[in-house]
Amino acid sequence: QGDSADFDSETESVCPFCGVGCKVSLKVKDGKVKYVEGINGPANEGRLCVKGRFGFDYIHHPHRLTKPLIRREDAPPKGMNVDPGNLTTHFREASWEEAMQAAAGGLARLRQAHGGQSVAGFGSAKCTNEEAYLFQKLIRQGFKHNNVDHCTRLCHASSVSALIENVGSGAVTATFNEIENADVAIIIGANPIENHPVAATYFKQFTKRGGKLIVMDPRGQGMKRFAYQMLQFRPGADVSMLNAIMNVIVEEGLYDQQYIDAYTENWEAEKEHLKAFTPEAMAPICGIDPEVIRDVARTFAGAKAAMIFWGMGVSQHIHGTDNSRCLISLALMTGQVGRPGSGLHPLRGQNNVQGASDAGLIPMFVPDYRSVEDPAVREDIFGVWGRDEDWSAKKGLTVTEIVDQVYAGNIKGMYIQGENPAMSDPDVDHARDAFAKLEHLVVQDIFLTETAYFADVILPASALYEKDGTVSNTNRQVQRVRPAVPPPGEARVDWRITVDLAQRLGLPWDYTDVSEVFAEMKQVMASLDNITWERLETETVTYPSLSETDPGQAVVFGDGFPRPEGRAKFTPASVIPPDEAPDAAYPMIMTTGRQLEHWHTGSMTRRASVLDAVEPEANCSLHPKTLRALGVSPGEMVRLTTRRGSIEIMARADRAVSEDMVFVPFAYVEAAANVLTNPAIDPYGKIPEFKFSAVRVEAITQT
Ligand code: SF4
Repeated sequence: QGDSADFDSETESVCPFCGVGCKVSLKVKDGKVKYVEGINGPANEGRLCVKGRFGFDYIHHPHRLTKPLIRREDAPPKGMNVDPGNLTTHFREASWEEAMQAAAGGLARLRQAHGGQSVAGFGSAKCTNEEAYLFQKLIRQGFKHNNVDHCTRLCHASSVSALIENVGSGAVTATFNEIENADVAIIIGANPIENHPVAATYFKQFTKRGGKLIVMDPRGQGMKRFAYQMLQFRPGADVSMLNAIMNVIVEEGLYDQQYIDAYTENWEAEKEHLKAFTPEAMAPICGIDPEVIRDVARTFAGAKAAMIFWGMGVSQHIHGTDNSRCLISLALMTGQVGRPGSGLHPLRGQNNVQGASDAGLIPMFVPDYRSVEDPAVREDIFGVWGRDEDWSAKKGLTVTEIVDQVYAGNIKGMYIQGENPAMSDPDVDHARDAFAKLEHLVVQDIFLTETAYFADVILPASALYEKDGTVSNTNRQVQRVRPAVPPPGEARVDWRITVDLAQRLGLPWDYTDVSEVFAEMKQVMASLDNITWERLETETVTYPSLSETDPGQAVVFGDGFPRPEGRAKFTPASVIPPDEAPDAAYPMIMTTGRQLEHWHTGSMTRRASVLDAVEPEANCSLHPKTLRALGVSPGEMVRLTTRRGSIEIMARADRAVSEDMVFVPFAYVEAAANVLTNPAIDPYGKIPEFKFSAVRVEAITQT
């Protein structure tokens, strides 16, 4: 910390970690970021959490990739056998020219020999909007299909699926800051104190003002201290509990008939469906007392303005879309959408997962969630990209479907930018085996991630604090990021690498500045109307923005929805049990997630000195009684085994975890949680069931 005079420069940008999108000032001395300060962005008003404040020095870590790398001809077989501190056993340094020729040449050869379908791409929610847009355009234009996806498939794909189906838009209907106008709020399946810490400060302030916070989570958590009601329901029993709450609202006539008549459809079917879900019938399934269910129903329905926030505890289930359908129905039947202090808000995970999804980095939609199968949408895209009848009008494959096709040998080449599926995919040993089979893998990243272990060509890229562009946070707020320092060594900015690759694959791209990419995005994305590059120089703009002086709409859908006749839809949801039930061999339930200090697969935060010092070791959380029953003391190792595999990991005592559960963070390669997770997917959002696996926990006998 210090005065401005202590630094050579100060640059405004946006935190690279979570979807809150805190604005930061980066203080640079001697070519390095030395200090990060929260500044007055609309989502953070000067606040930062420990990651944003202290987690920045990974960008200067000695493991940064500074030169392109090519797999050595005499390298050992592809696998997890690489030392990120010593790359020379597997890779050799190459010039950019040689590396780009190898990267593009390999993909072009596969396209020539086996057709475009033999190549797929994973883009990144850590990159900018412009980089996400160019990535999906490269796959669609260069390989003529839609097999392009990113980590939204692993976080909120089911929420987006339900939102598009029922309200006609995949984004939040109200910013999280709108909670200041609410008197009741539900947080379900989210742990904001750890995962959206700055948003959590607004939630705490809401309760200090007298707002009633209802927390629903199978795992106890920090927000419990602030809760009016804490519903610690059985894992996977969300639909039964939510339907029971709605049953009370129907039976007691607490719904908003005027709103339902004016703005919704399919109410009678929903009402009929809910009849069977009485609190008494659902209590044995969800584990919540019927009187608590009744109180929550009356409190929510009686609110003047109420919001619903949810996270991956809702979405990462095989019934994730049904979970979100229930939350949408609850808001609709009580008329809690479209007014100040009301609305639906899935708390987005990565810093730019909202923007990357908006920009079309998903297999079923081009930018702005318009169907790849719609002839009118294709005509619109042709008007900007040029006519291309060879481009497939079929939905593409999702992340897990692509990995399965790689395993089956049908996809032979991939371009992966800034994602680490060799750590983040469910049943990750299967994913790693698949990547080892690829004939040609191009990885573009800032570190030698576990995915890069399998690469044929590695292109050194840039961290967010080294690049120019825009990102969009969970609030639909579009913000500029700016380079505080240049990429290290010969590393390049991601969008320029993608443009170079596209040109070498024969595409007539001629972008010379990132603002030109943004200008093209505006031609195909009505959501960016009235948001200009010039405006973003000085302000954050929330989409939709109704004029060039409108800062944007914090609350949307006050007078109808972007669906037929302007009506949102009720979609009834039935109880679907988790894919695998605990049994004698695997008697407990495993759930996975993040910790406050570590971000996703740990590639950045485990190289951030302060964060790694605070949380250096792979760990899992078990209830103290469970530990006693196992004969294990906190700090000792346990073995976790599921039908997919086994890991050994240090155990911690945590009363927040129920006695039949174990919580495992997925940031640690040495005890990778995803070796254990179940790849079963939700049929709509195609999201894996990361939140429920049957597991056996054993003490490791010391010899
Ligand atoms: Fe960064 Fe999220 Fe923390 Fe804000 S809350 S500083 S965006 S990690």
